[in-house]
This record gives sequence, C-alpha cells and structure tokens, in this order.
Amino acid sequence: MIIEKIDTFPLRHDLHPPYGDANGLKRYRATFLVRITTSSGISGWGECVDWLPALELGFREQIIPFLIGKKATDRLVLTKKIAAWHARSAAAVSMALTEIVATAAGLNVTDLWGGRFRDEVPVYASFQSYSEHEDWIAHSIRLVEQAVTEGHRMLKIKVGGRPIREDQAHVQAIQDMLGGRAQLAIDANESYDLAEVKAWLTLLERWDNWMWFEEPIPMDRVDDYVKLRQMLSLPVAGGENLTGPAAFYPHVQARALDILQPDVVHHSSIDAFRDTLQLGRHAGIRVSAHSFDGGLARLYALYAQACVESWSKMDDISAIEPIEWDYMENPYTDIIGLKPVDGKIKLPTGVGIGVPIGVTVRCDPESR
Ligand code: MG
Repeated sequence: MIIEKIDTFPLRHDLHPPYGDANGLKRYRATFLVRITTSSGISGWGECVDWLPALELGFREQIIPFLIGKKATDRLVLTKKIAAWHARSAAAVSMALTEIVATAAGLNVTDLWGGRFRDEVPVYASFQSYSEHEDWIAHSIRLVEQAVTEGHRMLKIKVGGRPIREDQAHVQAIQDMLGGRAQLAIDANESYDLAEVKAWLTLLERWDNWMWFEEPIPMDRVDDYVKLRQMLSLPVAGGENLTGPAAFYPHVQARALDILQPDVVHHSSIDAFRDTLQLGRHAGIRVSAHSFDGGLARLYALYAQACVESWSKMDDISAIEPIEWDYMENPYTDIIGLKPVDGKIKLPTGVGIGVPIGVTVRCDPESR
C-alpha cells in the first residue's frame, strides 16, 4: 500500500455571536482535514488544528512530497519524522494511516487496537460560558438547561475570565438551576494562582455533585498542583495542552492530578495519545480526553476510550471516564455525524472509522 495522493481541506467558520472562556471570546472555529489515498485505492482521513495558512503551506511544501511513494503501513516511522517538523500535522497523518490499515484489513480501528471493552462511551456537555450578551449568566443558564433537557447529566462550565465574585455568582446560579440533577465541572483555563483558588474553597464545599476543577493554575506549577489536591475536596484535572506522555509524566510522578486530560490534536499521533491514556491507567490516575477542535479527533478519542480498561471493577458506564463533547455552535461536530443520546455515544462498528466523513460542512471560502 503505497501513498499516492493527499488532499487537504482547510475549514473555517465564523461565529455569530462569539463565545469564549478565560482566554477570551472566539470569533471563528477552524479545522484542517487531510485525506490520504493509496495506490490500491484505500483512503484514510486525518485532522489537525493550527493556523490554516501555515498548515496548508507545511503540507504542500514538505509533508506531502515526503509522504508520496512511502508505505502506508509505516505509520510510526513516518509520523516520527513529521512530528520533528510539526507535531500537530503528524497527528493528522497518524489518523489517516491508522484508518487505511484498518480498512485494508476489513476491521474497525478498535479491532486493530485489540478490541473494545465497551460499545458506548459517556460524554459530558462542555460550554464556553462567556458571551457578549448583556446578562451572560442568564444566557449560560439557558444553554446548560437545554443540555440537561436533552439528557446530559455531566456538564462543564467556565470560570476564571471574570472577577471572581461574578464567576461565583454564575456557579451558584447554575447549581441552583440544576438542583442536583447533573454533575458539574468547572474549568479556569489556568487563570489563578494558589492564593486565588483559596477564595473558591468555601463555595465549593456547598455541593457534592462536582466532577472536577480543571486547570485552576498554570500546568507547569507541578508542586502547586500537589498542594491543590490536598486543599480541594473535589478532583483536580488538567493537561489539555500537554503534548505527549513525557509531558504528563512529571504530573503523574508527583501525583499532581486526579484526572489526566490529553487531547488527540495536541499529541504528535493517535498512538502517543493512547500511550498517555495507558500512562494514566497504569499509574492509577483517571483519564478523560479533552476535545474542543474539530470532529474526527473526537471520534478517535471516543474509540481510544472504548479500548481502555475501566478504572473500577464496577460494572456500569460510570466506570469509564467521559469524553468532552463540545455543546457550542460548532459545524465540525457534523464531520462524524454522531450525536449523544442520554449523554452517551454509541460507537460505530463498521470498517475503518465506521462513518463517512462529512466534508460538506460549512466552509468560509476566504480562508482557503
Ligand atoms: Mg480546559
């Protein structure tokens, strides 16, 4: 199976109105799809995220010429080389080559990985809580309430982007609305320092439906995370921007996190991402993939989670950690055409990635 052709699909969608987190409001969403086709006619899709013109140039000038004529079965060798140039591009190539081998074998990618432990994986509805609405808290409550009505029982909202009393009023209002009907995570996107987190302690003690407190402080402050775990009564999660198992290792070694949150598109390959899941499992630390950009990467996160042993002997779906499900306006969710039912995704069983890729999703041509 020789790589014969590679097509790229830079996609951008402007948001009206914008939404955001502690890092600011997002005014557009973007993703970059890659289709690799072999001489035998088998294709595989990959996805990565970065500045679209840079990705397009990198593929056209360096990655595509390098890959043409190579063996599609040399995934590890090829992605290692590309990762040295641009790790995020390597992630897309690794997905596409994984799908090609699975399709050639007539198998789903989870069969290629040794089989799945479950056919359903739970997801949590993830919100970008800040907006330009005059009453952003009321707008956030309406969105979260809609997700609960649709069957979601695990939710994540943002903190850290507004004065702390305003963020706490938001959390209080969301908890009042939920009335214990769902579990809740809060995500500060590394906004605070250790002293500022202390201002949350009293409020957090009021409820017992917490999933976790995500990235309260910058991730490189490993020692402070160790102290945080001792201070907080709820689990501490983080790591969405870490780039591989080696980057997670200091946090694992120091027992600085309760939950690792690797992101497929921030790793150099789907193989490295699965290694991080296993690092957590072998260390007795939970793993709940972060997934914000794109759509295909989320499917790979779901498949990878299906192939991870449960963290507990409890024989129900609560024994496997949920995957992040972007609840906001995001046309790239339609790339894989799967929708949660009662907060779970039933995974396809078909050959390759088991679903057709929907490249008819909205695309702003000026971005090409
Ligand atoms: Mg986060």
